[in-house]
Amino acid sequence: MYQDFQKHLQKELKAIEEAGLYKNERIITSAQQAAIRVSTGKEVLNFCANNYLGLANSKELIKAAKEALDTHGYGMSSVRFICGTGDLHKQLEAKISEFFGTEDAILYAACFDANGGVFEPLLDENDAIISDSLNHASIIDGVRLCKAQRYRYANANMDELENCLKVAQAQRHRLIVTDGVFSMDGNVAPLDKIYALATKYNAMVMVDESHSAGVVGKTGRGTTEQFNLRGKIEILTGTLGKAFGGAVGGFTTGKKEIIDMLRQRSRPYLFSNSIPPMIAAAGIRMFDMMSETNELQDKLHSNTDYFVSKMKAAGFDIKPTQSAICAVMLYDAKLSQQMAAKLLDEGIYVTGFYYPVVPKDLARIRVQVSAGHEIEHLDKCVAAFTKIGKELGVIK
Ligand SMILES: *Cc1c(COP(=O)(O)O)cnc(C)c1O
Repeated sequence: MYQDFQKHLQKELKAIEEAGLYKNERIITSAQQAAIRVSTGKEVLNFCANNYLGLANSKELIKAAKEALDTHGYGMSSVRFICGTGDLHKQLEAKISEFFGTEDAILYAACFDANGGVFEPLLDENDAIISDSLNHASIIDGVRLCKAQRYRYANANMDELENCLKVAQAQRHRLIVTDGVFSMDGNVAPLDKIYALATKYNAMVMVDESHSAGVVGKTGRGTTEQFNLRGKIEILTGTLGKAFGGAVGGFTTGKKEIIDMLRQRSRPYLFSNSIPPMIAAAGIRMFDMMSETNELQDKLHSNTDYFVSKMKAAGFDIKPTQSAICAVMLYDAKLSQQMAAKLLDEGIYVTGFYYPVVPKDLARIRVQVSAGHEIEHLDKCVAAFTKIGKELGVIK
């Protein structure tokens, strides 16, 4: 039975490989942190994790998780609405709302699920979703599951957004959806302008804060802090899998009735297991840490400024960034792979991205700076880039 299909898959896989798009995974044998060990036994500095605040191996979070294992056990064995809601889940949801200045919050197994389950319960064919063209795959999938009319505008292009809003006056309700930080360029969505247009054209706004929460804004409260819009945005989604500890978990937070409706109707919430208590406990501790001190955000911001200015001084072409993502532009796909491989030999772990992940002829190496990096790590990274950059003729 399998033979025909097997042949089909083998052919497809071969085509992926021949196009140079086959993804091989490197194996890490240490904890996730600034200096990691890979399966070859080599120690390298990690500059491609979403570990923005350096919390993935935080002793404090590990302690909180261990304590919860003792007090609340390992798993919930239930979705939330049957018997999967613990006191820790409710506390974490309250912490999330407090952090973002919103009315309520709902947890998911991942932000992929939060985005997958946010549109369909709220909007139908009478409504409109207006989406940035560079939005995350999970937003695109979530929109596909919803019957609302779809509009798309070029990345951060406010003229196109305005045109969409004009046409979408034909629909009952309008929701503008954007990533807070776009992961390939590191640019922040112009939320001030989006909000102004939303007000003018009677639309709601949703921001996916996955790459911006913990990072953007003076105290890491995300794009609503940066643009002075706390409490004004109807829907925010985010992940616990990046800056916020890096384990797993997602959330939607915003207006009370919206969150209420998601608890009633959101399918990934209703039909998927509750997150383990230890993850909730570590999340609570993490948000407490954020309100006690701004040390990590301050360090991340100064590390990013330091790294970007050193790289520019070395002569690299760096995309303007307002986040911890630093795109080193190389343009040529092959060069991006060559350079990443040579950097790994130098002990710097980074990833080269090229078409179709980024537009054609806009290949790059994406560097992600972390509060877990020390100045010596950043210096080592810049030195390796400079050495290899000269070798490959990227810089003089
Ligand atoms: C990473 C990411 C997600 C997915 O988050 P998970 O919790 O890992 O599922 C969703 N949206 C954006 C914008 C992301 O960057």
